[in-house]
Amino acid sequence: MSVSSQLREELGAFFVMNLNEKPLHELLALIEKNEIQPRDVISDLYAAIAEREPQIRAYISVAPQERLLAECERLCDKPLKGIPIAVKDNIVTKELKTTCASRFLENFQPIFDATVIKRLKDAGATILGKTNLDEFAMGSSTENSAFFPTRNPHDLERVPGGSSGGSAAAVAAHEAICALGSDTGGSIRQPAAFCGIVGLKPTYGLVSRYGLVAFASSLDQIGPMTKDVYDCALLLNYIAGHDHNDSTSVQRPPEDYTRELGQEIKGFRIGVPREYIVELSGQAKVCVESWIAIFRELGAQILELSLPHTEYAIPAYYLISSSEASANLARFDGVRYTKRMSESSVDAMFAESRSQGFGPEVKRRIMIGTYALSAGYYEAWYGKAQRVRALIRQDFESAFQKVDILISPTSPTPAFKLGERLKDPLAMYLSDIFTVPASLAGLPAISVPGGRVEGLPFGIQLIANAFQESKLLRVAYAFERAILHNTARSPRRAQ
Ligand code: GLN
Repeated sequence: MSVSSQLREELGAFFVMNLNEKPLHELLALIEKNEIQPRDVISDLYAAIAEREPQIRAYISVAPQERLLAECERLCDKPLKGIPIAVKDNIVTKELKTTCASRFLENFQPIFDATVIKRLKDAGATILGKTNLDEFAMGSSTENSAFFPTRNPHDLERVPGGSSGGSAAAVAAHEAICALGSDTGGSIRQPAAFCGIVGLKPTYGLVSRYGLVAFASSLDQIGPMTKDVYDCALLLNYIAGHDHNDSTSVQRPPEDYTRELGQEIKGFRIGVPREYIVELSGQAKVCVESWIAIFRELGAQILELSLPHTEYAIPAYYLISSSEASANLARFDGVRYTKRMSESSVDAMFAESRSQGFGPEVKRRIMIGTYALSAGYYEAWYGKAQRVRALIRQDFESAFQKVDILISPTSPTPAFKLGERLKDPLAMYLSDIFTVPASLAGLPAISVPGGRVEGLPFGIQLIANAFQESKLLRVAYAFERAILHNTARSPRRAQ
């Protein structure tokens, strides 16, 4: 037993917080000062997984504890010290299967690591496990997983959001210190909001998509999901950067995204898009008003403005993302990667494998996409959606001439009940109304806990102009400090 483990045991009752509840940057500082050992963190994580996983079901697979304990010993000189990270199961990993929560890939063992995984491993991280998601990342609740739904740690009757619901629930339940998710139309931000954690979708092109199983290639981005804003910045430092394996990743000088954290935001111009708040009522409205008050207290200037094409974002997004998905998912055919369901003829092999391999939501998207791209309909559907995308991009361009950051709720409601929206795909799609526009415009956006609605976490979304992650994180950090301070001060703990 290490000295620190012994000490912790002796102090037992005085330890109010287990190590798995602390953010990464605090753990690294404690390890640096020799007050704790990485293996203590690993033990606490596995204890939490054993205790909570039967209810939460955040993971599809978990690495063996002995392996991570052995690995952390030889990583002690690296910056991330062998601390394990949870990874959404659509990001390929050499030592754990990558299923995309699909029957099709149930037994798929990749032979290489995604670039983000390689970068994190080079920095001394290990992979704790692969987290549940909506099949191929299509969904907003993690109920479309072919295996099982994940539950929201704040209320087990509710969804954790999606599609990165497993990553969000794992971090919120302290079954992970931090995680990676992927975001095509909100899949990092919305589950982060539902589970009361922080989630960042970087600018399109900032993080390599090599090894991310493609859903909609012009929208997909990988990003961090963490307990606080500082950790988001820290993880981004490791995963951002050009990759010759992803031609859409950009060449830019590396930045330290933690650099501006803690600097004041006095004089910053914060924009509140009218279209994002008009329909809010009750506690959601009160939350937004409290955010505005916080920013004013921090010395920022609040400006109401308009993003006039917002109402067209959902149809444009579902047409574009489904069109790209229908092309990307053509590779799953029973020949490569996947289960083969019939050998009687080539046609039967394709048809049977795809009918049995894909779940209903994936099939719906493939049908929408194939229709939108078909000859005779292409211009009317896909072509029009692309034009709408350009208009949405222009809305943001003109907004960012007036303001530094835009704010909105991440989702119109807090986490909904399991089953509540399954029979109504449109209601499910509409829950993405606030996250989809920034995706279509390729902009960075972060969700930060912003109080409570109906007793459940309610997230604030902050959006910045392209490649302004440092500014975005600086403002998000200032907001996070302020709201934590207010919560601590409030006698009713109203937040
Ligand atoms: N909920 C959205 C969808 O189903 C977003 C998914 C995502 O970002 N991966 O398409």
